[in-house]
Amino acid sequence: MTSTSAAGSDTRAARSGGSALELEQLEKHYGDFTAVHPLDLHIPAGQFFALLGPSGCGKTTTLRMVAGLDAPSGGSIKIGGTDISGLPAHKRPVNTVFQSYALFPHMSVFENVAFGLKRRRVGDWKARAQEFLELVELVHLASRKPTQLSGGQQQRVALARALVNKPEILLLDEPLGALDMKLRRQMQTELKRIQTDVGLTFVHVTHDQEEAMSMADTVAVMNAGRIEQLGPPQELYDLPLTAFVANFLGRSNLMPGTVVGRRGEFLEVDAAGHRVLLAAARAVSESGDVLVGVRPEKLDIRASTPGDAATAENELAGIVTDTAFAGMSNEYHVEVPGLGDFAVFAQNRGAAILQPGDAVTLSWHPEHAFGLDGADDVDAGEES
Ligand code: ATP
Repeated sequence: MTSTSAAGSDTRAARSGGSALELEQLEKHYGDFTAVHPLDLHIPAGQFFALLGPSGCGKTTTLRMVAGLDAPSGGSIKIGGTDISGLPAHKRPVNTVFQSYALFPHMSVFENVAFGLKRRRVGDWKARAQEFLELVELVHLASRKPTQLSGGQQQRVALARALVNKPEILLLDEPLGALDMKLRRQMQTELKRIQTDVGLTFVHVTHDQEEAMSMADTVAVMNAGRIEQLGPPQELYDLPLTAFVANFLGRSNLMPGTVVGRRGEFLEVDAAGHRVLLAAARAVSESGDVLVGVRPEKLDIRASTPGDAATAENELAGIVTDTAFAGMSNEYHVEVPGLGDFAVFAQNRGAAILQPGDAVTLSWHPEHAFGLDGADDVDAGEES
């Protein structure tokens, strides 16, 4: 039997081709404090869905309400079309993998994976446990105890143990949080492979934007108990709709300005006396105050030549304040009068590295900029 047939094919949601998980007006209050504002969310069956946000934004609370570990203050939860809001945790068709592996220390790897099957008296428990050990590539360590495994191996056992129960949805709460960076990146690839193999719906909670972007089909960026934006990672990165998303998902240079005119498809923006063009279709508003955003890798940087006054549109004159060599790229910080600090990532293609004090000109293609509400906080979502 292939792993796909093992865990994916017989879930109700996959059969119906509909939403695996539907949250309607789901909310959570602790006294006066609202941890999760009324939330509507539909996650299609078979998706790798990431809830991404900083500490305290309400992502774990949301996951725990789905798992049945926290009682909602209001709203409903449907899994595979069935309302499970009233069911206790152990009756819900979900399994959760936590950051702490919570394996049974006295049992072998095999026994850990087989535990749930044996308890439910599943007939072919041995074959099933073996199959899921194969899926996580741990057959050769089946007789070891958890303490004889690395962190990544323990997390794979935890994953097999959760998947073997054939949940309709696997909930993952920072499952890679305890691993060092290298192992974490390896496990991200593993986790994505396993999810693709079993075709199951994964709901993954993380504060690591790189992790969310590299694994998820859909990312929901959460801030202060609300989803600010939701979509495929490339779309969120390319066209963030709030300063929080622009700063939390990757990095952004945000220039406060005012729309002063229109030229065809473009808005003309005055940003501290600099003339900037912005595609109207990439702006949340076409008039008034805006923040013009440009990602650091979308900026071109060149040493200014004498008489180079950077008067063209989308050109800014500045002074390099910091240079960091990072092998394949250089990161520069440039101070632009009236607009402050700009971060620039420049691929290292052999050109001379610019030095602090150098006069430079920054430019970018107007199609690469995005326009946000001028009332947004330019520092929202910046990691401290
Ligand atoms: P982290 O990544 O740190 O786990 P999170 O986004 O998962 O953060 P939650 O654990 O969902 O955040 O918590 C959301 C908010 O609810 C936080 O401000 C937290 O302090 C608050 N909170 C969570 N549990 C309780 C509780 N039992 N009583 C009061 N407040 C709580």
